[in-house]
Amino acid sequence: METGRILEEPYSSLVAEAKDLAELVEPFSFVADESSVLHEPTLAALRGSSLCELMVPAHFGGRFKVVDPLAVCLVRQTLMKSSSHLDSLFALQGIGSYAISRAGSDEQCRKWLPKVASCESLAALALTEPIAGSDLKGIQTTVFEKNDELVLNGSKSFISNAGFADFYATLAREDDLYSMILVPADVEGISIQQSEEIIAPHVLGEIEFNNVLLPSTSRIGEKGDGFRHVLATLSVFRISVAGAAVGLMEGALEEAVRHTRERHQFGKPLAKHGPVATLLADSWSDLEAARMLTYHTASLARENPEEILDLSSLAKLNATEAATRVVDRCVQSMGRWGLIKGSKIEKYYRQARPMRVYEGASEVLRLGIASRLLREIT
Ligand SMILES: Cc1cc2nc3c(=O)[nH]c(=O)nc-3n(C[C@H](O)[C@H](O)[C@H](O)COP(=O)(O)OP(=O)(O)OC[C@H]3O[C@@H](n4cnc5c(N)ncnc54)[C@H](O)[C@@H]3O)c2cc1C
Repeated sequence: METGRILEEPYSSLVAEAKDLAELVEPFSFVADESSVLHEPTLAALRGSSLCELMVPAHFGGRFKVVDPLAVCLVRQTLMKSSSHLDSLFALQGIGSYAISRAGSDEQCRKWLPKVASCESLAALALTEPIAGSDLKGIQTTVFEKNDELVLNGSKSFISNAGFADFYATLAREDDLYSMILVPADVEGISIQQSEEIIAPHVLGEIEFNNVLLPSTSRIGEKGDGFRHVLATLSVFRISVAGAAVGLMEGALEEAVRHTRERHQFGKPLAKHGPVATLLADSWSDLEAARMLTYHTASLARENPEEILDLSSLAKLNATEAATRVVDRCVQSMGRWGLIKGSKIEKYYRQARPMRVYEGASEVLRLGIASRLLREIT
């Protein structure tokens, strides 16, 4: 399962860099991954790594000319294997800032992107609302312009990094259009509460915007461009969820292989019993197929990120559904040791589950993928 063997520079060095960071975080990864508030030592380690430079264009302190989806995937794969908290902090620097990288004014880019790259500022993307989830066109947060200022009102729900982010790229209705608004966390009129705890803890918050006043220059791009920014962000970062799912599968399978090689029943290692070998082989097959589709899609996205939304959805659907199958088989092959609370495999089992819901639930992704298929076949 050595990713490095099939990768060329600069990607193999990047994976090595990410491995160094993952090793640094490994000793406290269990504590971090059970935390639904920011885990400072994990953030400090991420800051020290300089990997967040991958999330912004070179002109504003980034590593590559533009955000490279394959680089982001490979790093997420490596970090997720060690800590979902670390993976999430890394991913959100891109998810929350991509709209700015893509369409922000020079002032917005200069103010925020270098700090995103150095991880001095934390980013967040606020789309979901108490009522609107998959159906984002149903959002009720509004923004309107009055005397050269924007006035923002509404509620956002289940927002990663809420309460710890320095800014929120926020989708709001503006007349009968949708705009993306850059909301610094320290403006008057924002209040944040922690969201409900979920089975795999995550930093999540509920945000209220109560007559938040912002300069009229706070739109990201033009009035009415909001959905284009959302789709562009999802195009790049859905593939990166696939990358994280690949990392989770690697971690789970390694646990299962080690256990089933060591433990003997009926006079031989578990792994040598046909049905257990089948669980392992099918899991490796799922993992490698997901890896190939993920890397291939990420490479296509490097050329033309905004044209591959459906392929990005396909990669996410494939890898996250595979991760659920793989981790379930791994738990099964480990018998009672697969069920121990606080073990690595139990953690992966819980962490695989939300991946099929966030950044597009599998069923919603299938709708877009099937429509694309119908268009492709003449
Ligand atoms: C860990 C985590 C982190 C998150 N972080 C963020 C964040 O940073 N920013 C943000 O804005 N949001 C975030 N979210 C919210 C996430 O984007 C939503 O949960 C997701 O979009 C699904 O919306 P919902 O939960 O309201 O499910 P619903 O929309 O209520 O859907 C429930 C289920 O119904 C099915 N379904 C819905 N619509 C259809 C359809 N048209 N066809 C077929 N089936 C359908 C699907 O199976 C779906 O799972 C996060 C969620 C989680 C769990």
